[in-house]
Amino acid sequence: MAYFDHNATTPVRESVLEAMRPYFRERFGNSSSVHAYGRDPREKKEEAREQVAALLGCAAGEVVFTSGGTESDNAAIKGVFFALREKGRHIVTTAVEHHAVLHSCRYLEERFGCRVSCLPVDGNGLVDPEAVGAAITPETVLVTVMMANNETGSVNAIADIGKVTRAQGVLFHTDAVQAVGKIPIDVNDLGVDLLSLSGHKFYGPKGMGALYVRTGTSLDPIVHGGGHEGGRRAGTENIPGIVGLGQAAESARVELEEERKRQEDLRDYFWRRIDESIPDVRLNGHPTMRLPNTLNVSFPRLEGESALLMLDNSGVAISTGSACSSEELEPSHVLTAMGVDNLSARGALRFSLGRENTREEIDAAMELLPGIIARLREMSPL
Ligand code: PLP
Repeated sequence: MAYFDHNATTPVRESVLEAMRPYFRERFGNSSSVHAYGRDPREKKEEAREQVAALLGCAAGEVVFTSGGTESDNAAIKGVFFALREKGRHIVTTAVEHHAVLHSCRYLEERFGCRVSCLPVDGNGLVDPEAVGAAITPETVLVTVMMANNETGSVNAIADIGKVTRAQGVLFHTDAVQAVGKIPIDVNDLGVDLLSLSGHKFYGPKGMGALYVRTGTSLDPIVHGGGHEGGRRAGTENIPGIVGLGQAAESARVELEEERKRQEDLRDYFWRRIDESIPDVRLNGHPTMRLPNTLNVSFPRLEGESALLMLDNSGVAISTGSACSSEELEPSHVLTAMGVDNLSARGALRFSLGRENTREEIDAAMELLPGIIARLREMSPL
């Protein structure tokens, strides 16, 4: 058995589970309550905010807790658009964003007269920072470019884009859901104004995320109600989730450098084994500017879904693209935007490693993979 699908989700760490546990029963209080039951949850919530801030290099007051990456992306894009729509109605994004970004932009386009410029990417999946600058007009209210791609792991030159947006006085959001906890992040070095993250991608709880909002950023809330989160996101706080997210951020910060190197070595070992033992394969994504855990490989002339199912039968879990699109047999919008031909895109498999993976698991998977690929290619009408 081997789980190589950590970009889809990760198991909650033991320390995260332990930190969360008391907040379901003994310390169940509402953090807004004035009485004693509210005190400890309130303090823990602020401690968690500090832990998340430490991972991002920002002030605790700039962290807003949300229900995950999807909500953070929606809150950033719609929140800036509604706050600034008298100023202008233009957003710049890229063709390879997660659907949480693309569909938020499309909604504003179809329902609120927003113009969206969707920039192309190069063959490695990266957007050119100069093209971002060239796309900005006096009407532009937001640039939103993902930090790391969920399918290929390619990491954009966010700091260079930050310089461009800063020079032109336009707000910059990055979807860093796949980057947080895997590579170092400092929001000031990056020059971003808003950044999305999600707990379940780095060993925290599902349904829990955060949005970094630089002090002074114009942002309307998208969830209205009580004055929680400083009026930026209403709703009684998910204290167990917040405590878990804080602990996951703390643990990720402590182990980041060591795990980054270890997983990068494992990933490169995996790729060498594939490249040596299977003919006609290609690596998708940037050869070096890539997440340490992500390996996306095309095996042309077979259906990736069939390989996924055969590996699953032997207890090896991988993905053919993002989890959200794994029920569609359309080639991935990310690979298509990178110019990967249809046959290669349909035969793409994503292996995403995590902190519990070992070289032995890769060796075991490599006992199976060449045979599976050869069999599928023999049978394939493609
Ligand atoms: N953005 C990216 C790049 C992702 O990979 C994902 C999840 O796959 C999301 C956003 C959505 O995050 P969540 O699952 O927390 O809603």
